[in-house]
Amino acid sequence: MGIEMKACRKCKETKALAEFSKAKGGKGGLRSQCRACEAARAANYYADNKERAAVRSAKWQANNKEWVATYNAKWQANNKEWVAVRKAKYRADNEEQIAAYQAKWQANARNTLTDNYIKSLIRLREIPQELIELKRIQILIKRELRK
Ligand SMILES: [Zn+2]
Repeated sequence: MGIEMKACRKCKETKALAEFSKAKGGKGGLRSQCRACEAARAANYYADNKERAAVRSAKWQANNKEWVATYNAKWQANNKEWVAVRKAKYRADNEEQIAAYQAKWQANARNTLTDNYIKSLIRLREIPQELIELKRIQILIKRELRK
């Protein structure tokens, strides 16, 4: 039993039938282009439409924020090592920006006395909310006295 062959319309090579994807209604139920040519065409199409695809993807993500957040959290949990490596690299590449952002964040936290800011001042592992409130009041009194 010989292997049945078919010529690809694109690259003109004669290839085994397994090299062609199935197609409904196609000649012999197969596509006219071989898998390699179809893959190349798909890659070209993707390159040509990258920008349009990016816009569409951004739009879709904006409309599916919850799904994206759940997906990202799951993905990150399953790829912790890779995420850690990426984070370290990002930190190394963006030291100045991160420092500026942190300074800004800290200034804002100091002004508005966020819970997290107050927690950072209390050197305890478990911090009850009442303690945070007390510390906030203490800071406000100190600031008032300094005026
Ligand atoms: Zn081909």
